[in-house]
Amino acid sequence: MDATVIIIGAGFAGLQAVKALCGRSSLRILLIDKNPYTVMLPVLPDVAAGFMEESLSRYPVARLVNGTVALITETVRSISLAGKKVTTDNNVYRYDYLIITSGSTPSPPKLPDGLPRYFGQLGSLDDAIRIQRQFHAYLKNTPHPHLLCAGTGYTGIELAVCLKARSIELGKETAVTMVDPAKQILPFLNLSERTYVAGFLASLDFTVLTGVSVSSADAAGATLSNGRVVPAPFLLWSSGSSFSIPSISDSVEQTGDGRIAVDRFLQVKGHRDVFAAGDACAFFGDGKTPLRKAVHYACGSGRRAGANCCRLIKGKPLLPFSPFDAGWVLPLHECGVGRLFNRITLKGTLPLRLHYFMCGVRNHGANRLKTALVAVTLLKRKKAA
Ligand SMILES: Cc1cc2nc3c(=O)[nH]c(=O)nc-3n(C[C@H](O)[C@H](O)[C@H](O)COP(=O)(O)OP(=O)(O)OC[C@H]3O[C@@H](n4cnc5c(N)ncnc54)[C@H](O)[C@@H]3O)c2cc1C
Repeated sequence: MDATVIIIGAGFAGLQAVKALCGRSSLRILLIDKNPYTVMLPVLPDVAAGFMEESLSRYPVARLVNGTVALITETVRSISLAGKKVTTDNNVYRYDYLIITSGSTPSPPKLPDGLPRYFGQLGSLDDAIRIQRQFHAYLKNTPHPHLLCAGTGYTGIELAVCLKARSIELGKETAVTMVDPAKQILPFLNLSERTYVAGFLASLDFTVLTGVSVSSADAAGATLSNGRVVPAPFLLWSSGSSFSIPSISDSVEQTGDGRIAVDRFLQVKGHRDVFAAGDACAFFGDGKTPLRKAVHYACGSGRRAGANCCRLIKGKPLLPFSPFDAGWVLPLHECGVGRLFNRITLKGTLPLRLHYFMCGVRNHGANRLKTALVAVTLLKRKKAA
């Protein structure tokens, strides 16, 4: 009988894994995703702020895979590694080989008294659409808007900057406070990069409080660990992430944020027939910290996991995953900061243009050109309704 390979997640990693597996006629490939479309996560802050049409951030998976792949639009609830089965809301699927590329999901806040009336977390297209709607309603209904962002990582900063830009455009004065229990923002940046970001946030009148967290919230407001109360905020929670499948049984090593530890071949430790790639996996290489979550690592690891799965089936030796650091960009709506090949720091509009250009390159179909063109227009003229 043909071997069955299940891939969970049709994001950057999953689609590359599928590509690497396709063409093996002896395989039965099942690609399971909760959505019928794949999402370009890096543009979601622009979608959430209403600067980019949501249709540019999603593309039908069916148009990206060939007819030999069975697409299943269902949410995976659990994986049993010992039983070699994947359980969704509706069905149980058995596999011979499994590739886990389900990304990660934002961790919900644990606030004892609940949440303010207006609240948002950004991890999916649905979240971005919800934030866009809620933020509009918030600005309309609140005399003195105050955006409170818990978490000063890439996503928190990017989203807060985009929403601030939106409020400026709508002529609604909005205070912004960002808090983080850590001692400094963006610890992975060097001093000059961090100073650039801090200076830009200061130019927008952001208050950035390090060593401070949100300790409680209710419908009326939020209280910070320094005792300060923020009345009627829009609370953005951008602190922490977890594994996006509720349950995985049988011994797997997971990091604090739920990522599954893999070896240098991207095999899940202790399970030869299971691979993980992208944000779902913790790949340490020779270092002590796992690779950061980034599109190019997700694509590269997905491709390698798919290819290694084929090699395993054919009885060939597996090849190690050798990540290449092409760099990163933190887009800040009207400028950005980034580093190329872990060496060259870029500041200003050039890294921002590079960000949109790369979003175009990684996008699909007609979305590809439209997104890449933002590298020229920088969202200044084209705004979503
Ligand atoms: C707001 C934001 C901005 C970002 N900006 C950048 C950037 O500028 N540059 C950069 O390099 N990286 C950026 N990243 C990180 C980058 O998007 C990720 O590293 C990348 O998407 C990881 O790819 P992946 O395939 O592992 O996971 P994903 O792209 O998240 O794909 C996972 C897939 O699994 C599916 N899935 C999840 N759970 C289940 C389930 N239980 N059942 C079925 N299907 C499921 C999802 O629907 C999704 O299609 C950003 C991330 C976010 C959230």
